Parts: sequence; C-alpha cells; structure tokens
Amino acid sequence: ATPTALLVASGRGAQLGVFIKGHQALESARAIDTIVLDKTGTLTTGRMSVAGVQVAEGVARATVLACAGAVENASEHSVARAVVDLARRELGGVAGVEDFRTLSGLGVRGRVGGRDVTVGTVRLMRAEGLAVPAALEQARSGWEARGHTTVAVAIGTEVVAVLALSDTVRPSARDAVRELHALGLRTVVLTGDNAVTARAVAAEVGAGEVIAEVLPAGKADVIRRLRAEGRTVAMVGDGINDGPALAGADLGLALVTGTDVAVGAADLILMRSDLAVVPAAVRLARATLTTIR
Ligand code: ADP
Ligand code: MG
Repeated sequence: ATPTALLVASGRGAQLGVFIKGHQALESARAIDTIVLDKTGTLTTGRMSVAGVQVAEGVARATVLACAGAVENASEHSVARAVVDLARRELGGVAGVEDFRTLSGLGVRGRVGGRDVTVGTVRLMRAEGLAVPAALEQARSGWEARGHTTVAVAIGTEVVAVLALSDTVRPSARDAVRELHALGLRTVVLTGDNAVTARAVAAEVGAGEVIAEVLPAGKADVIRRLRAEGRTVAMVGDGINDGPALAGADLGLALVTGTDVAVGAADLILMRSDLAVVPAAVRLARATLTTIR
C-alpha cells in the first residue's frame, strides 16, 4: 500500500466517520465476504429498560425487585442497569450485596439479606437444576418471540420471576444490512443472548444468519470457525466480550461508544453510532485497494 493512498483513505475515512487504526486491515478488507454483527449495543442501542415482570404465584414483586436490584447494582451489564433503574424507581433505593459474582455471559449472583440470589438466563437456571414454573416459562417464550431479552430471578433454589428487557434496534441497522448484502456480503448476528430473541432481532434488521447463546469466550471461536470454513470475516462490536473476536477477525470494527477493550482490539473505529458507516467503511477499504493496486 502506498503511503499516499493510505493518507487519502484516512482523510476520506474521517469524513465518513471512520477512524483507520490498522492500515494493514484495509488490505484484507478487499476479500471480506462475511460481516459478523454483535447484537446488543451494536445492532441495538444497548440501553435497556425493563418491559415486564412476571412473578411466580405467591411472590411479591417488591421482593423480586429488591433482591434483583441489590445483586445487579454490583454489575455493569446493560441488563443490570435496567433492573437497578426499575428497583430504584419502585422502591426508592437498593440494598447492599455480599459475595457478588459474575457468571460471565450468563448472569450474576450474590447474597442479599442472607439469601442467595441469582439473576440470569433461564439456561443458567436449568444448568443449576432449578425448575422454572410454567407461568414464567410461558411469559418468557412470548417475550422472546417478540425480540425481548429475558432473565430469571432465583431466591435460593426457587425461580421467583422472569423479567423482559427491551432494547432498541438502531434505526440505521436495517438499511445498513441491506447495503452490506448489496455489496455481496453475508451477514451474521452473533450474541450471547438466547436464540429466539436473536432471531427476532435478525429478522427485524434483515440479517441472514444467527449464532446465539455464545459465551463471551466463544465469540472468538466462532470467528475462527468461520475463517476455517474459508470465509474472510469482518466483525463489528462494542463490548468487552467482543474484544478477542474483533482481534481475531480479518477486519475488526468497533463503535467508538463501545468499551475500551473493543476499541483497542479493532482496526477501524466507527466514530458515529449510525450503522450506515459500516458499508461505507467496506466501500472505502475496497476503493483504497483499487487505488493502491
Ligand atoms: P451479548 O452478547 O448480547 O452482549 P452477554 O454475553 O453479555 O450478551 O450476556 C448474555 C446473556 O447473559 C444476556 O442476554 C443476559 O441474559 C445474561 N446476562 C449477562 N449479564 C447479566 C447480568 N448482569 N444480569 C442478568 N443477566 C445477565
Ligand atoms: Mg454488544
């Protein structure tokens, strides 16, 4: 790559809202045939709010919110922020938590008022051998089919509630995906969230493939697997758990509003949260190579 071509690319990138960190990545961009898009915080804004609370029979909503709010107050996750917001609004505050632990990609756990409280995926509850009451299961499947992320709350060994979280698909997502397809790319939604919710969001934005329920450490494995299949892969992400996948992709793109880990691992930084920048970056990389060659 000639320095002049790259300088031109940098200038044009700045105009588009793309900061080019790794010039080398522009070289591989020519062959990109697959673009993997993180769901939460990338295709969506990641600013979640609690859209519904279904409690088990005989369980008080205030108890659920007090317990869940206390544990989530120690977590930084977007699910956690939504739960704490609701607890604060309805109860006026949140209690403290002891022995807090993060179960990466699955949930959180701690002791509140001497009781063990777990907030996390239904998959986690099942893995722990906890039964989910039928009424809660029913609420969960309805919410997930509509694209909501759901989490269950357990106090001790009893699953006492399921919460629905609503996130907002970025208004630019659908057009961006359509343009990526027009550029001949295959689109894949990659997420730690459950498959039903992921498919609903993928359908909303028109993405072609869905790889869901991937634990944080597994995202990089997915990229490796796609590359092993002979695909040339770009990854777009924002989260801590996207870092290794961004680094392992042929081209890593991070939202500037994302975590330091994501921004640090990416080759291109998207300076605006408008996803139209993604196909623009692909076009820029291709144009730069045409100039170079
Ligand atoms: P994503 O790939 O969508 O960013 P994560 O890997 O961070 O997802 O989390 C996967 C799933 O684990 C979430 O959809 C949520 O159900 C659950 N989870 C993660 N962190 C928490 C938390 N602090 N509280 C409750 N559930 C959580
Ligand atoms: Mg994310």
